[in-house]
Amino acid sequence: MPTVVNQTTPDTQSAETYISQVFETIKQRNPNEYEFHQAVKEIFESLVPAFAKHPKYMENGILERISEPERVISFSVPWVDDEGKVRVNRGFRVQFNSAIGPYKGGLRFHPSVNASIVKFLGFEQIFKNSLTGLPIGGGKGGADFDPKGKSDGEVMRFTQSFMTELSKHIGSDIDVPAGDIGVGAREIGYMFGQYKKIQKGYEAGILTGKGIGYGGSLTRTEATGYGTVYFVEEMLKDKGLSFNGSTVVVSGSGNVSIYAMEKAAQLGATLVACSDSNGYIYDKNGINVETVRRLKEVERKRISAYVDEHPDAQYHEGCSDIWLTPCDIALPCATQNEIDVEAAKVLVANSVKAVGEGANMPSTLQAIEVFQNNGVLFGPAKAVNAGGVAVSALEMAQNSMRLSWSFEEVDSKLKEIMTTIYRNSVEAAENYGHPDNLVVGANIAGFLKVADAMLEQGVI
Ligand code: NAP
Repeated sequence: MPTVVNQTTPDTQSAETYISQVFETIKQRNPNEYEFHQAVKEIFESLVPAFAKHPKYMENGILERISEPERVISFSVPWVDDEGKVRVNRGFRVQFNSAIGPYKGGLRFHPSVNASIVKFLGFEQIFKNSLTGLPIGGGKGGADFDPKGKSDGEVMRFTQSFMTELSKHIGSDIDVPAGDIGVGAREIGYMFGQYKKIQKGYEAGILTGKGIGYGGSLTRTEATGYGTVYFVEEMLKDKGLSFNGSTVVVSGSGNVSIYAMEKAAQLGATLVACSDSNGYIYDKNGINVETVRRLKEVERKRISAYVDEHPDAQYHEGCSDIWLTPCDIALPCATQNEIDVEAAKVLVANSVKAVGEGANMPSTLQAIEVFQNNGVLFGPAKAVNAGGVAVSALEMAQNSMRLSWSFEEVDSKLKEIMTTIYRNSVEAAENYGHPDNLVVGANIAGFLKVADAMLEQGVI
């Protein structure tokens, strides 16, 4: 199974054999969960050097335990639409690992949500949360509900029904959900309101990504996008490059994309393309980020509406063709597997210098290989987009202290966290024999802290 090239020693061979066996068992026990298999494979492959160096992880079954969620909750979400028709969606919460803190991870509302998607996201979240250096375990959830095209009333009734069940399983020291695709400030607000109504007392730390007026943290809205750019900036700086004067393509036009674009523009980059799930826009003059923000966040319109206000820009139907646009830096910030091997080859042929994954698992395993084999600087999601959950943990800290920090204070902590994640990933990659491979570095750095905590806490 492992495709990361490791020096062959007896320890490496036994680590590879052990990891391959555990991976095969996972595939058999979780049939048809392809996204989950993909996420596990990516992490397992890069852990070979860590298992070869520390046989104690093998002896204590850490891999078998870390890849089995501590708890998987699936529930029905009945609600009534504007026509009075009863609808039923399926809700999920996967409480994956609590070795280093309460479960923490977003909720995704999208028709594609199923057990495999929630498990892949929850599994990645364990390592991402560990990388932040903050005390948060890994979890994820969501529902196969599509907020697009629904009225405010429908979204409210759905989220209230969702929270009625979810509230039985969460708590500010147990499990603290946040947003993800399809779950923004509006949905978090409705869920917070419902939790408050059906539980005793005001528990500010029950959710993160809240409105600023009721316990939210300044900079949380911007955190994942800004953090993505802070990480990539470090990656570029190490090689004598920078955002300044570079052309950038950012997929998506949601929370992560908008604020990645805003920060990249502030650093002197020209944003040439962004997208939604229908198509993409190209603006040779540089995309006006404020227009995109207003159209998507305030007016909830499609990205095609951009060209009505900026006639020099072009709209192209079909979101995946965005990767045909030549650029120096590519920031996939929409969804999983949006860059396949063909898209990666086109980006390389167009001389892309760096790829930073703002979305979760946006590149297929084969696409990552193409980038790495062609000298493209590659920042993996769990390191690059960890800024969102890091600021969520800072929101939890502020809620516990009943304090609010300024935008500048949170932003400077975010920047420091992203720089530390970058440095720790570089260092782990070097220490474990894969210099410059940030996939290996981030996975090992994230894994070691969780594995050691699991060892210290015994078999539970
Ligand atoms: P969002 O605000 O809902 O925006 C998602 C964007 O991606 C939208 O423009 C959406 O277009 C597009 N998109 C969704 N599904 C797509 C598909 N199948 N094909 C093409 N485009 C698609 O979500 P977000 O919070 O920015 O999250 C984006 C990614 O970042 C996800 O992978 C998420 O897990 C990851 N992430 C988010 C955070 C966070 O703090 N929000 C933190 C870490 C990682 P439409 O409007 O047409 O649907």
